[in-house]
Amino acid sequence: MSDVKFDKIALIGIGLIGSSLARVIREKKLAKHIAIATRSEKTLARARELNLGDSYATDNATAVKDADLVIVSVPVGASGAVAHDIAPALKEGAIVTDAGSTKSSVIAQMAPELPAYVHFIPGHPIAGTEYSGPDSGFSTLFVNRWCILTPLPDTEKTALKKLESFWTACGSKIDTMTPEHHDLVLAIVSHLPHIIAYNIVGTASDLEKVTNSEVIAYSASGFRDFTRLAASDPTMWRDVCLHNRDAILEMLGRFSEDLSALQRAIRWGDGEALFDLFTRTRAIRRDIIEAGQEVDAPDFGRRKAGN
Ligand code: NAP
Repeated sequence: MSDVKFDKIALIGIGLIGSSLARVIREKKLAKHIAIATRSEKTLARARELNLGDSYATDNATAVKDADLVIVSVPVGASGAVAHDIAPALKEGAIVTDAGSTKSSVIAQMAPELPAYVHFIPGHPIAGTEYSGPDSGFSTLFVNRWCILTPLPDTEKTALKKLESFWTACGSKIDTMTPEHHDLVLAIVSHLPHIIAYNIVGTASDLEKVTNSEVIAYSASGFRDFTRLAASDPTMWRDVCLHNRDAILEMLGRFSEDLSALQRAIRWGDGEALFDLFTRTRAIRRDIIEAGQEVDAPDFGRRKAGN
């Protein structure tokens, strides 16, 4: 059992991230009471069936009443509306955080809505799968994964320490950085790969000659790995693109330049340039495996939904 203990944790949004949090909070006994809020009756009913919490509401304000930790895990475009809903009901001294994949936009939406007497500490667990909804979560999602916190200049150290201890108890490693830096780093390591995957899978589906059956039959030759990323939640990724626009456009610009160089190397038969690039990139995958952020298995060792 952990010594991090909250009386009441409110989870706003109970999809992949929210339900994984609910499961680990329960398992590690990190709260006496887990309050769950989600906007639809359907998702709420499923969360209840899965016994993810102690109380359930479709009204966000009801869930956060008396909570000492509030974690918002909804698509980033909905953060401002959620902050507006919960603001009047928040307890003085409560920690309010989020799991959103973009940080500057979430801060711009939430900070003006929240009262000065709560500790707002934005966050982003770098952990996920292509699945969504309350069934897709699992208690070990955050184990050995980074959680990036982007505290504001006036964030109180004790509140930050408490939130760090919470994520550590969930199994995460913690890093702190500015929201701008987070958005730039995530644009290249997460947002761009998803956009490229959406693009290549979209192109394949547009090619009339490559029929569905051929795309599926021969997918093991590389395409399959893109389809995993391109199966990610459309709402979440629409919001990421709209809310990290500048950093994504910057990285897309660099990507396009590098792609042109690669195209030129292929056109002019520059085997040395191709070999050098492919050797450099192979080493990066080795580094990632050595850092424990991936396993060396052909299926990427990723768990399937429901496991
Ligand atoms: P998810 O499985 O799709 O669950 C989304 C939750 O947000 C559900 O409870 C849903 O409620 C609610 N929701 C959807 N649209 C909403 C809206 N307009 N207003 C209020 N609530 C809304 O999503 P997730 O994967 O847990 O992602 C949650 C957050 O974590 C996102 O900000 C995402 O960027 C971030 N994140 C995701 C991953 C990942 O790999 N998936 C990783 C790290 C961070 P209903 O079902 O009741 O509609």
